[in-house]
Amino acid sequence: MKRKINLHLLIIAIMGILATLIMLMGVFYNLFQKQVIEDLRTYAQILQNVDVSGSNIDKTWSNIRITWIDADGKVQYDSNADTDVMENHNTRPEIIKAVNTGEGVAVRKSSTLEKNAFYYAAAMEDGSVLRVSREADSLYGVLGNAFPVIVGITILLILACMLFAHFLTKSIISPIEDMAKNLDRIEEVDTYKELLPFVAIIKSQHEDIIRNAKLRQDFTANVSHELKTPLTSISGYAELIENGMADEKSVPRFAGEIHANATRLLHLINDIIRLSELDVVETNPIFEKINLYDIAQTCVDMLQMNASNHQVSLKFTGEPCVIYGNKQMLEEVLYNLCDNGIRYNNAGGSVFVSVESLPDGKVELSVKDTGIGISRENQIRIFERFYRVDKSRSKSTGGTGLGLAIVKHIVAQHNAMLELESEEGVGTQIFITFDSYAASLEKPDEDI
Ligand code: ADP
Repeated sequence: MKRKINLHLLIIAIMGILATLIMLMGVFYNLFQKQVIEDLRTYAQILQNVDVSGSNIDKTWSNIRITWIDADGKVQYDSNADTDVMENHNTRPEIIKAVNTGEGVAVRKSSTLEKNAFYYAAAMEDGSVLRVSREADSLYGVLGNAFPVIVGITILLILACMLFAHFLTKSIISPIEDMAKNLDRIEEVDTYKELLPFVAIIKSQHEDIIRNAKLRQDFTANVSHELKTPLTSISGYAELIENGMADEKSVPRFAGEIHANATRLLHLINDIIRLSELDVVETNPIFEKINLYDIAQTCVDMLQMNASNHQVSLKFTGEPCVIYGNKQMLEEVLYNLCDNGIRYNNAGGSVFVSVESLPDGKVELSVKDTGIGISRENQIRIFERFYRVDKSRSKSTGGTGLGLAIVKHIVAQHNAMLELESEEGVGTQIFITFDSYAASLEKPDEDI
């Protein structure tokens, strides 16, 4: 960019210099011609009062040619040529003009390219014409003479322009360079007002990058910690058995602990893999016409046994509702929400799942439980990765702290809305509102 601006400025400057030079040459040559003719007119005025055949005049004005032509066009006197061999001058433009208007001027090419012949003719009282002429530089002649000076001045001007273009480019670019150098405090940088919208975008993108980097860092730290805990238990119990420190009665218990921790580890790894899959935006999940009612029904059926193990009743109501979504993702959402409803419930409690269309055509999925509920300050945090209100309860029921983070991710990918209502000791209800199938199709692809 810098080079391009520099080059463009230089090209403009060189074009300006050349155009100015050509115009100045034209103006000056015009003035020069006028001056030569003016001089010739003065000579003619002087000569009108003297005897032109006087030999002294010839010598003093040696570069001036004097011609006297009578009324018939015959040359009566010429200071530079033999009148006897000279043709009739009646047809010469300056003579015709002088006869008609009193004076005539003409410029003709000379024998060499560098010279022009300038003529001034004045009509005399007796009808004859007095003509004075001289050779002077043509435009090429003037150019030729002035060439070294013109080239010198042009080179100097171009050098000055190069220097100027360099500093100008630097000053044009410097606010942009400042922005690039100070990305982290971009709002303090004094820049062009036309760039302010870009500054705002860059700033928000920069903040996003930093936030994401921080989240990733926290996530990695959490993952390591979460994986370490069950692995330490597994390793500890296995070591006890290996060293013969576990009596026969304890071995099945230790093996049970190893099994439980290994299962937990597997769940954790599965959830972590799932989250990273969801994080990769490029993978385009297959979205299709889906009856949410069928998916909810299947999920509820699948979890009935789990619910009764926790002495919780799991009920499903609703109507067929078609949305545009990904089957596997929607199954995960339903599984996670119902599973939470069962696990964070009390013996004898209930979980109600419903799928229905709203008056505005949207489709609402609701999972409500009569469980332990979530306090207000925890309600906004439970969708964070690895956040649990009661860590030991989550762990003892096989939780990973990632279920709701996965739900949030999937809901966002479906352009749906997620709401939570909960009261401690009363229960929790989670609503997810999807666009209807028809409305989803009307939206541009990137929204999905
Ligand atoms: P976990 O695997 O620990 O259940 P989730 O991401 O599913 O992880 O949930 C995060 C936390 O939110 C849980 O640990 C729990 O404390 C709380 N939570 C989730 N669902 C419910 C619910 N239905 N009732 C009460 N607390 C809940």
